[in-house]
Amino acid sequence: MKLKTLEISGFKSFAQKTKIDFMPGITGVVGPNGSGKSNIIEAIRWVMGEQSAKGLRGDKMADVIFGGTADRKPLNRAQVIITFDNSDHYLQTDYTEIQIARTLYRTGESKYQINGTTVRLRDIQELFMDSGLGRESFSIISQGRVEQIFSAKPADRRAVIEEVAGVYKYKQNKDKATAELSGVQDKLDRVQDILFEIR
Ligand code: ATP
Repeated sequence: MKLKTLEISGFKSFAQKTKIDFMPGITGVVGPNGSGKSNIIEAIRWVMGEQSAKGLRGDKMADVIFGGTADRKPLNRAQVIITFDNSDHYLQTDYTEIQIARTLYRTGESKYQINGTTVRLRDIQELFMDSGLGRESFSIISQGRVEQIFSAKPADRRAVIEEVAGVYKYKQNKDKATAELSGVQDKLDRVQDILFEIR
């Protein structure tokens, strides 16, 4: 799966519609301090379902809407559209191209779409579940997070490496299965007790 394009309009410093085409290979974004490099990464996280305004360096979600500059009025709507080439079906859907759009109005009204169809946030989250691209994954690491990882306790750092290596998902499955097994064992014990009583 490849990231193909990102369209940003009315999101943070991107007042006017801006389209970024990601070519094969590595893409680097360069620019002076405060020119909006981090805002591009935040646009990606936002369209993929980020729910924390703080995680996007704001107080409330409406802070992502372009708030105006000395020579430009604030806008009432932020929209980000991300397009993935899914011809390898890395994301488990029949679509070979997936376009996700998120729109937020100052009134608080918000909308998510997958390939033009309005969906729930949950549908977006489920699409990325187990792909290593989810909101809590480490596929996007912000500046502050790098420091956090370096200064984390060894056990926490290990959790990061396990998540990246894809082990974390299996650990969670194992914990779930162990809990279920323990529930079954309790039921078996109960059956043994009943058998003992009626003998
Ligand atoms: P650095 O290199 O210092 O990390 P950067 O290129 O990553 O900077 P960003 O942090 O992405 O820059 O962008 C910060 C700019 O975005 C600031 O000028 C800020 O005023 C602007 N900005 C953030 N939110 C909004 C908003 N809602 N409306 C208008 N501008 C905004």
